[in-house]
Amino acid sequence: MDIKKGQVGVTTENIFPIIRQWLYQDKDIFIRELVSNAADALAKFSRLTLMGKAEMPEDETLKIEIALDRDKGTLTIEDNGIGMTFAEIEKYINQIAYSGMVDFAERFKDEASEGGAFIGHFGLGFYSSFMVADLVKIESKSYLDEPAAFWQSEDGIDYEMGPSDKTTRGTKITLYLNDDAKSQFDSFTLRRILDKYLGFMAWPIYFEEIKEEAEEKADEEKEKVAPTPINDPSPLWKRSPSEITDDEYKAFYKKVFLDPQDPLFWIHLNMDYPFRLQGILYFPRTDNVYEALDGRIKIYYNQVFVADNIKEIIPDFLFLLRGTLDAPDLPLNVSRSFLQNDTYVNKLSGHIIRKVADKLTQLAKDDFDTYASYWKDIALFVKYGMMKEDRFYDRAKDALIFETTDGEFLTLDKLAEGDIYYTPGKNDLTVYVDRLKQDGKTVIVMDHEIDNQFMSFIEYKSEGKTRFVRVDAELGKAEEGLEEKQQMLEKRFRQAAGDDKLKVRLVALGENALPAMIEESEQSRRMSEMKKQLERLGQTDFDDQMFAPERTLVLNDDSPLMSPLAREAVQAFHDEADTGFDFTRYVYDLARLGQDDLKGDQLLSFLRQSALMAADLADKTFDKSEEI
Ligand code: ADP
Repeated sequence: MDIKKGQVGVTTENIFPIIRQWLYQDKDIFIRELVSNAADALAKFSRLTLMGKAEMPEDETLKIEIALDRDKGTLTIEDNGIGMTFAEIEKYINQIAYSGMVDFAERFKDEASEGGAFIGHFGLGFYSSFMVADLVKIESKSYLDEPAAFWQSEDGIDYEMGPSDKTTRGTKITLYLNDDAKSQFDSFTLRRILDKYLGFMAWPIYFEEIKEEAEEKADEEKEKVAPTPINDPSPLWKRSPSEITDDEYKAFYKKVFLDPQDPLFWIHLNMDYPFRLQGILYFPRTDNVYEALDGRIKIYYNQVFVADNIKEIIPDFLFLLRGTLDAPDLPLNVSRSFLQNDTYVNKLSGHIIRKVADKLTQLAKDDFDTYASYWKDIALFVKYGMMKEDRFYDRAKDALIFETTDGEFLTLDKLAEGDIYYTPGKNDLTVYVDRLKQDGKTVIVMDHEIDNQFMSFIEYKSEGKTRFVRVDAELGKAEEGLEEKQQMLEKRFRQAAGDDKLKVRLVALGENALPAMIEESEQSRRMSEMKKQLERLGQTDFDDQMFAPERTLVLNDDSPLMSPLAREAVQAFHDEADTGFDFTRYVYDLARLGQDDLKGDQLLSFLRQSALMAADLADKTFDKSEEI
């Protein structure tokens, strides 16, 4: 049999509904597509005038007009751009997936020097109009001296074409909305969609709702005001940073992100090479983590909104920021909503990470105090970012700071090499913090949920040089030569605590320190943090032995209480006198109170004991003769 070559045939009726569904899950985007086509037509015409190939009448401005007529059930989108001839409509519209953009670029490739700000290039956008219309009509007149033409179709498959009586240059698309679309797209909804997708389009867009005659008259009686575009054709990110005031940056932020608070600071990205990227990234004020996670980075493609938070371009830690990014080299796929995987995308996100890291480092270097005053709002972002992205950690290292219990801010290299003491809250474990401070040590506050993981991360990065030690983790070595005393005390305290495994160590903690303190090793504490995390993830079946906290009761040998407690005599006194006051238990509870570990009934009984003791002391102190 001979070899036969050929081309597989596609039956439009069958494939068309599939394309439509696959491309556009979201009906709203038909308006983005049609207005983008209109914008491209304007850009092309403008380009031709610059090249001297077309002339722009003096009294004319390039614009897009959108009108909703509820009575007729139509929506029209009209531009005064390049227009299409009969032949062009045949070519560009009748052939699905044939974009006029490729032709245009090819025809003028020598003249059109710099990369153009065009949007369409897939030759499919126009067909999205059949999602919302029962009939779509095109009337168009080319800038060339050729007769106007019309085209219409009910389903995007069968069409009719012919001459049109349109006299002005440009294209008018009329959608006869289907019943669903009529109820879905009222003027309020259309405005919202236009604002979202086209709020920063480069050409002015006018929107009007055509009203009934009676209403129209009433409106006319009101003062006539010149219509204003609904969009901002030159958004802040397009302007030169040197010409923009802080107030303008803030106002833009508030308008776009509807945040009543000012942003902390921002980065204006503006680059041409090796790819084009313009935009502004804002650092919002975020006391609340969950609110912060709602940050948004809006991606634009030549001033047309594509999507929020595209994870391929924006590493997820950057979602704590807010901003608008215009990336006209984005390799969008046909639906313009998802990205093709690309090395370009990688470079783009690398660039953004570098810029953000540099901004932080520079702020920390130039104006440390101001930078430190932002720390509360940005710490989560910086820490999370460092753990997620090595590139960010490497470049932003110098912008990492820690707050001490005295409210001072220090960079990692200003903190002592080796052990770094921390407390889990500014007002927590004060007994321990005080002891270290008296010793001339610095204590930092690590009070965020992320800090446990972050400390391990920094230790790992320092290759073991840095170690974070909670203030209650290491209370000193046992006193030598006091084994007997220690044994005695251990016996007494185990009995008082009702715990025959209680570990006890006798240490000289100093005269000013409490008689007893609880020590919990760093290792043990981290294990229990891990357990908590596993529990949060729903895991409960673990070996309890493995996670049992390693605690030691450290008794202060310098305390005047210790020697009498260690003596049998006191034991005897205690038992016989039955004062209702258990010194040993009291000292044990005192230690637990210092570690914020005394709760409920045990706290209550401790407080009662304290009150009794105070009463007893008062009784001895005050002169009874003056009793009232
Ligand atoms: P794309 O915009 O991705 O190229 P479309 O299917 O939306 O694909 O449009 C196909 C072609 O039809 C466009 O490339 C353009 O040449 C032409 N076209 C569509 N709308 C207009 C318009 N308003 N003015 C002039 N040409 C248009």
